[in-house]
Amino acid sequence: MDKDSRINQILSHLASAASIAGNGVSEAVNSAGSKVEEKYSEFKLKMDLARLKEEMDKLLANVGRTMYMIHIGALADAQKTEDGAVLDAQETIDNLLKQADQKQAEIDAISDTLAKTSGKQSCAVCNKVAGNDDKFCSACGAKLPDNKPE
Ligand SMILES: [Zn+2]
Repeated sequence: MDKDSRINQILSHLASAASIAGNGVSEAVNSAGSKVEEKYSEFKLKMDLARLKEEMDKLLANVGRTMYMIHIGALADAQKTEDGAVLDAQETIDNLLKQADQKQAEIDAISDTLAKTSGKQSCAVCNKVAGNDDKFCSACGAKLPDNKPE
């Protein structure tokens, strides 16, 4: 083997090694990217949850304050709501409680989503991680437990 072809051989070897390393790097970067995205959406959900809980606290405080105002006779006979409806004392309380129910439903929905994203189910037979909505294991076909919240 002459000197030039030896150098060419070394160069082509280096080139293929570099391209393998290049793929490895880009795969690592891609998976880091999706991890970051996952973390970000989890972070966003937690922020939403914190905000909703704060709003819920305010609503409940408002219910308490309104009831106390009714108790001491300080609540006007008719209350105007944000959307312009006129409510009496009982309707004002009902309206606040209805808002609290809606807020609680939103809180529950986000809590569910967070629980699902943090704890992925896995197959009891072969231990392969499965999607939360999967009914059967994609690897061995075993039936997965129905983990829908009660
Ligand atoms: Zn399986």
